[in-house]
Amino acid sequence: MSLRWMDDELERRAAEASERKLRDRLRDPGGSGRLLQQETGSSGSTRLLDLSSNDYLGLAGHPAIAEAMREALLTGGTGAGASRLVTGNHPVFGQLEEAVAAWQGCDAALIFANGYMANAGVISAVAGRGDAVFSDRLNHASITDGIVLSRAEHVRYRHNDMEHLRALLEKHKHARRKLIVTDAVFSMDGDQAPLRELAELKREYGAMLMVDEAHSGGLYGQFGEGLCRAAGVQDMVDIHMGTFSKAFGVYGAYVCGSHTLIRWLVNKARPLIYSTALPPCLVAGVLKSLELVQTEHWRREQLSGSGRLFRSALREAGLAAGEGDSPIIPLILGGNAEALHVSTALEDEGIAAVAIRPPTVPEGTARIRFSLSAAHSREELTDAVKIIIRAARRAEGGGEC
Ligand SMILES: *Cc1c(COP(=O)(O)O)cnc(C)c1O
Repeated sequence: MSLRWMDDELERRAAEASERKLRDRLRDPGGSGRLLQQETGSSGSTRLLDLSSNDYLGLAGHPAIAEAMREALLTGGTGAGASRLVTGNHPVFGQLEEAVAAWQGCDAALIFANGYMANAGVISAVAGRGDAVFSDRLNHASITDGIVLSRAEHVRYRHNDMEHLRALLEKHKHARRKLIVTDAVFSMDGDQAPLRELAELKREYGAMLMVDEAHSGGLYGQFGEGLCRAAGVQDMVDIHMGTFSKAFGVYGAYVCGSHTLIRWLVNKARPLIYSTALPPCLVAGVLKSLELVQTEHWRREQLSGSGRLFRSALREAGLAAGEGDSPIIPLILGGNAEALHVSTALEDEGIAAVAIRPPTVPEGTARIRFSLSAAHSREELTDAVKIIIRAARRAEGGGEC
């Protein structure tokens, strides 16, 4: 009875096509970039082309990663047993941290359980009451939650609008400390932050700069170091984070920077201190994945070629394919029902492409967010693009044609 208010709210959401639901999804363990879909009422399954996962380099399911995990599982067990600050700090954490620091060319690195906990932990460790955190309106939810947790003033600037950011920095110039935080590549739009301008503003206003490379780590830079390196601003970034759950195909996250930063985080980042360490076998898999990210350059090349092909085909068909050159390509449809409708139509034709709705994206910009993977062949993508264009045209034409 006391939870009745939840039913009311959920009914309202269902009526406006914004209720979220969990669905069983089985990824092909062979790394084909496909989902195995159980057919209703039969034991057979169909294979959907997966255009919604973040396995950008096609590394999820890589046999060398699986083998590294299996070996470590047999020697290191299934669980870490405790927080890293208690007895959970298996030597593989230090090995991975050294490898990350060497890869990034920075002093030190720290592994977190995932990107969400890294953002929540880092922001709340470096900002507090009396500070101001300047955050792009389209930043990831984990950044927003980190700011709320920090109790610092949350100052949101218009997406990639440096004039607005400057005005806000000016307005809050007497804050005790200032932190500017941005996604490098925005997760729902695929466009990039103006990192050089952000670095200049940070210098001018004596702020710290934090960059989240969740959708760019592994993808940009000669060895996949990320967009900060590709843009040549890595030395101006104070706090650099990324996740191992997307391009790396495994799980976990990294933060890198100076010795001072890492020492501070070991003492202050609560999700690191008060949560059990990742299973060591998982970290062993990440270590292997980091090696593959640095050496298998063809994956980045294949992916950027696919991105060009996909974007130009959508544009030629008169559809807006978003800015930038990332593997994230949004098809903005506007209404929730339209986005769901196109998603269902695509699934009927063998494509898994999930509708993303508010509050994940701003009201009135419900979309299909396509994300490409090096696991997909050119032929698969060429065929998919034709189906997508047909489905989008039908949606524009009011559903009939
Ligand atoms: C996915 C994502 C995260 C969270 O990373 P997880 O490892 O999945 O928890 C953080 N920031 C951005 C921009 C993301 O897209």
